[in-house]
Amino acid sequence: MKTWQNILGDSITSAAHLKEHLDQLETEFNAAPQPAHLDITSISRIIATYPMRINSYYLQLIKKVGDPLWKQAVPDAAELLDPVCIEDPLGEEDLSPVPNLVHKYPDRVLFLVSSQCAMYCRFCTRKRMVGTGKMIITQETIAAGLDYIRRHPAVREVLLSGGDPLLLPDAQIDYLLNELRTIPTLKVIRIGTRVPCTLPMRITPELVAILKKYHPLYINTHFNHPAEITPQSSAACNLLADAGIPLGCQTVLLKGVNDNTEIMRELLLKLLEIRVKPYYLFQTDLTRGTNHFRTSTAAGIKIMRSLIGHISGLAIPTFALDGPGGMGKIPLTPDYILSRGDNLIFENFRGDICTYPESGDAI
Ligand SMILES: *Cc1c(COP(=O)(O)O)cnc(C)c1O
Ligand code: SF4
Repeated sequence: MKTWQNILGDSITSAAHLKEHLDQLETEFNAAPQPAHLDITSISRIIATYPMRINSYYLQLIKKVGDPLWKQAVPDAAELLDPVCIEDPLGEEDLSPVPNLVHKYPDRVLFLVSSQCAMYCRFCTRKRMVGTGKMIITQETIAAGLDYIRRHPAVREVLLSGGDPLLLPDAQIDYLLNELRTIPTLKVIRIGTRVPCTLPMRITPELVAILKKYHPLYINTHFNHPAEITPQSSAACNLLADAGIPLGCQTVLLKGVNDNTEIMRELLLKLLEIRVKPYYLFQTDLTRGTNHFRTSTAAGIKIMRSLIGHISGLAIPTFALDGPGGMGKIPLTPDYILSRGDNLIFENFRGDICTYPESGDAI
């Protein structure tokens, strides 16, 4: 059996290699012809700015030119023609007291500990730097981040991200978690990782044995489409859940990938079956090079309305917008309230109108 390192090593990272695979896909599935812009020069230009990595596991899930998994993994000419979005929409660099650590909320910090991912998602929020030389993570930045957390007792939770923290070697993950656990004021460790979806074989029994030493440890993973839920990704999530690690999912609402109710419903329900609780559904950030993935916020609210009440509440994420310039996340919720006063008048999930008498207490 191939190790996860081998599978990662087999990734498609060059235009010529991608082209070879596409020609094969076209013949194999009698697929639609490739879009004209997908010539080697054009792809090379895109990946010189925004790197590509499609590992052999994720590659075999792509069945057609232009399908939802393709869109997440394969460069698009639109990435270099984005007229709207900005480099660092969340203002993360301005909110970093030390490099690679973002302190935006009072009680929790985002700590970027890896610059690599198992696949470079075309819609990535940190597209400007992940997988490139612009994201510099060293022993020194890690030490400075640990020191910051140690010196700020108000920080009770750390969110390890990147890049993907679980692409680090086991020994480094063990070291990092161990160091974090020497800080008594830090209560909760959360890891943001897409490997259960994009490289599930990375979740080995050895890795899980390390992670479970550091409870309370939460993992938020990232699935965007039901076709990403495979026997391998289910097995990965099972290993983690069996180790007592609560699993959440941060999905991004993406045009042409999951921006319809049926796909979203199927994704959310399948996540519950593999013991992953949908946590956030994100409105796509204003990240330069990703404008072609953005839907309107109304489209997302409409999807939420068609799900709330109709499927298990456990399957319902919070639809959220991360405000530009470090404003933070706000929930975008369908509005059920029709009027307030002595009576609260609202409609339910079916559209029936309901009157609820208020208590009369002054607020
Ligand atoms: C999203 C985010 C968090 C975590 O927010 P939650 O609502 O707790 O999931 C923390 N710090 C930063 C900088 C973030 O962007
Ligand atoms: S796994 Fe996450 S950090 Fe890595 S490229 Fe995808 S969205 Fe970006």
